[in-house]
Amino acid sequence: MLMEQKFFREKINLFQKNLNEYEMTNSNKEVRRIERIIRGVETSDGAGVSLTRILGSPELNMLDPFLLLDEFGSDNPDEYIAGFPPHPHRGFETVTYMLHGKFRHKDTAGNEGYLEDGSVQWMTAGRGVIHSEMPEQTQGLLRGFQLWINLPKEKKMIKPAYNDIPPDMIPTVKVENSEVKVISGVFLNTMGPGKPHTGVLYLDIKLRSHLVIPIENGWNAMCYVYEGEIESGRVLSKGDLAVMSKNGALDCINKADGTRMLLIAGKPLNEPVARGGPFVMNTKSEIVQAFEDFQSGSFGK
Ligand code: FE
Repeated sequence: MLMEQKFFREKINLFQKNLNEYEMTNSNKEVRRIERIIRGVETSDGAGVSLTRILGSPELNMLDPFLLLDEFGSDNPDEYIAGFPPHPHRGFETVTYMLHGKFRHKDTAGNEGYLEDGSVQWMTAGRGVIHSEMPEQTQGLLRGFQLWINLPKEKKMIKPAYNDIPPDMIPTVKVENSEVKVISGVFLNTMGPGKPHTGVLYLDIKLRSHLVIPIENGWNAMCYVYEGEIESGRVLSKGDLAVMSKNGALDCINKADGTRMLLIAGKPLNEPVARGGPFVMNTKSEIVQAFEDFQSGSFGK
């Protein structure tokens, strides 16, 4: 009994400490403005997977250090079953976050990973991988996101690495009825399991209240509402991506039932970007080199 009381008292103290810190950090804090609202573009990739390209389209090519954000979501197997058969990557990281469904990842170096509801795969392509990403289900809902994060110049040719993060390794912070999953970076003393090569804050938020989220000054930040509606100076509805101004915290209020949003922020690399399909380097000649290396079979070794 005593043990139980102690346990609950500690829990309450921790909750109070978090709340105090939350209120302290957010008083008199500068607030970010919405600079642009962008709608994703319907497209298809891989062997014919329907998806919405939120970032990385002609609307908004990139938001340094982020190169691409895709949302895939369908309960029609015809729209996802073909998956992404073997294809190469070089020069950046891919972060796949599954909301629902199962995916199997394999690369030509023999690495294999399994993604299920709520899990994350953080893949550092570095100098080069050839991998497949295939759905491991023939029916039901498949929904999730893939984010591409650029690697700094000096890390583009590092050894490929994988970090498969199961759902129970991703902490959830509860604040005023809202729930914040910390995939990468820190929110209220809670650190996410992601290990990016540049500063990245990646949060999945069930917004049920007014919430203020501190973001490093100077980091680029975007906010994607994938269910419901929020207000942050302007109203953001389901499917809206907001690009925020450079300094201050994100201040948002829930406006609908079941609101869910991603907040993704990162330290800009401020380096030249040369893109060639699945390769992202600093110069055109490095892209040509990537195609040559891929064709000569030196990838994935
Ligand atoms: Fe891929």
